[in-house]
Amino acid sequence: MPVWNRAPLKAGSLARLPLGSVRPTGWLRRQLRIQADGLTGHLDEFWPDVGPNSGWLGGTGESWERGPYFLDGLVPLAYLLDDPRLTAKAQKWIDWTLDHQSPEGWIGPPKNTDWWPNMVMLKALTQYQEATGDPRVIPLMQRYFAHHLSEGPRRPLHQWASYRWADELVSVLWLYNRTGEPKLLELARLLQSQGTDWQRHFALFEFPEKTSVEQLGLKIGSGQNPDRAMRAHGVNNAMALKTSAVWSLVSGDRSDRDAIYRALEVLDRHHGLPNGMFSGDEHYAGTDPSQGIELCAVVEALFSLQHVLTVVGDPVLADRLERIAFNAMPATFSADMWAHQYDQQPNQVLCSLRPRSWVSNGPEANLFGLEPNFGCCTANLHQGWPKLVQSLWMATPDRGVAAVAYAPSEVRTMVAGETRLAITEETEYPFRGEVRLKVAPERPVEFPLLLRIPAWAERASVSVNGQAVEGARAGQFVRVQRSWKPGDEVVLSLPMPPRVSTGYHDSVAIERGPLVFALRMGEDWKKVESGMRKPAPHPAVDWEVHPTTPWNYGLLVSPQEAAATVQVREKPIGDYPFSPQGAPVELAVKGRRVPEWTLVNGSAGPLPQSPVASSEPDETLTLIPYGAAKLRVTAFPRIGTRQ
Ligand SMILES: [Zn+2]
Repeated sequence: MPVWNRAPLKAGSLARLPLGSVRPTGWLRRQLRIQADGLTGHLDEFWPDVGPNSGWLGGTGESWERGPYFLDGLVPLAYLLDDPRLTAKAQKWIDWTLDHQSPEGWIGPPKNTDWWPNMVMLKALTQYQEATGDPRVIPLMQRYFAHHLSEGPRRPLHQWASYRWADELVSVLWLYNRTGEPKLLELARLLQSQGTDWQRHFALFEFPEKTSVEQLGLKIGSGQNPDRAMRAHGVNNAMALKTSAVWSLVSGDRSDRDAIYRALEVLDRHHGLPNGMFSGDEHYAGTDPSQGIELCAVVEALFSLQHVLTVVGDPVLADRLERIAFNAMPATFSADMWAHQYDQQPNQVLCSLRPRSWVSNGPEANLFGLEPNFGCCTANLHQGWPKLVQSLWMATPDRGVAAVAYAPSEVRTMVAGETRLAITEETEYPFRGEVRLKVAPERPVEFPLLLRIPAWAERASVSVNGQAVEGARAGQFVRVQRSWKPGDEVVLSLPMPPRVSTGYHDSVAIERGPLVFALRMGEDWKKVESGMRKPAPHPAVDWEVHPTTPWNYGLLVSPQEAAATVQVREKPIGDYPFSPQGAPVELAVKGRRVPEWTLVNGSAGPLPQSPVASSEPDETLTLIPYGAAKLRVTAFPRIGTRQ
């Protein structure tokens, strides 16, 4: 059963379903299995920071955010796959925290005095409680928050915790909706009074360009970060996307609720990238597609959007969720999820150990490996896929259910009060545009079924048992309210003609449905044998990826007639859907080399202003989904003559 906001909190537009209500099937289940067989299922066996000596297991090792980050993804992955090996691993951590609360109410390693990592552990605990109903979780949270309320005025949020206060707020409200204790709303107000005002940050946006170490006052390695640097920090921004909307549930203020639109608008305008993210390597880096975005920011942006959706309920936010989840997220992992990057680049033509034009990241940042650049992403990469599964379906206030994002899945929930409902979603979305829903209430019952029609889906259609349903409009939910009976079938058809979008320096990117496409390049994966990596006897390998084919192409496409200039080839979904070999769809498009576009400082050099003249011969190029292309060009010059 969904848990709704309790007065005086504002009602939400949608409600999350408890962990376990939505199960992955089809290619999505396979993807979670890849994750479980990759780093997530094995990291604790060889990476000391989440190994048996972690402070979060009573040891003397890492005692800050890494254990909780790991759990925040391991818990949902374990329960979504019903994998006893993984649930046993997670249980050790959960039990240690549940068994070692201090008499005052503090949780976690005694030597940690920072509120921040506890915020992450609380997110893991709430998911665990939803999956298991363990009766120890809620009393622990009650004691912890009572402690925070009494201690908070003396020991205010500082550094990371003050920028990330909404990560505690979501758990405070989660508990309030279950217990109704008024003191929790006092704690919510205390957090807000001590936390960063992100609405103001985006309203008075001070960072229109790529930032610099000097401008931000950064002293790398000092551990101290000036306020400007913290507000220009990619991961802080990704976490901040939810802050105003979640706070609006307490404040009741419409400007808080709607602040997400301003935030996305300024981030897109000044730092937007074609993969749905904004740049941050690891601070705001402008709109050049050779700049990077950190993995932590990708998974945190997804988590934020999932919460904003419950408040605002706007399908455009789910379009964004899918764009990030189906593009930026898979791109930043090797296909087998045994290696990840710190920074990914939309135009990423060489991954190698060398300094690049990042704002503040080091020479390892675009390697694929165990902990390139810094180990935060190694700990935090796990939540992305499992939380996407959870957010595919949500409850509606009028006791129905909404398909918020699409992927093969099964949802089990209650509708119209007390009637059990299962829906099986059969689809190869996002690679194909047809979605088939088998609706199975335990008995005939009337309830609304909401289906999101993405903004790109012109001419979408919906049918129920073969009968067309009116009202499918791009960018809206279509609401199908009827008496549903077991065996009803809904077919949603989302036509996916290729589209050409324009961006940085009037470059072009090719999209189809929620997927962004990129040049398929020859990839030579080379183990990094030397350099800064500590040799370690572990199964994870660090990789450079070198191109074996040219990349400096411009495209002969017309934004107005995309369908005529781009050919689509659908292929079976491979065992590794996000690999060049397993890519389930390819596009063919004509292009020409642009000889003056060359490698600069290890990255694709400044993108020539389009249109670009080229007298090179026409070639037919193959594009594959962005997430499948580990080397790629995404933003291309457009070949043409200046008007
Ligand atoms: Zn990170």
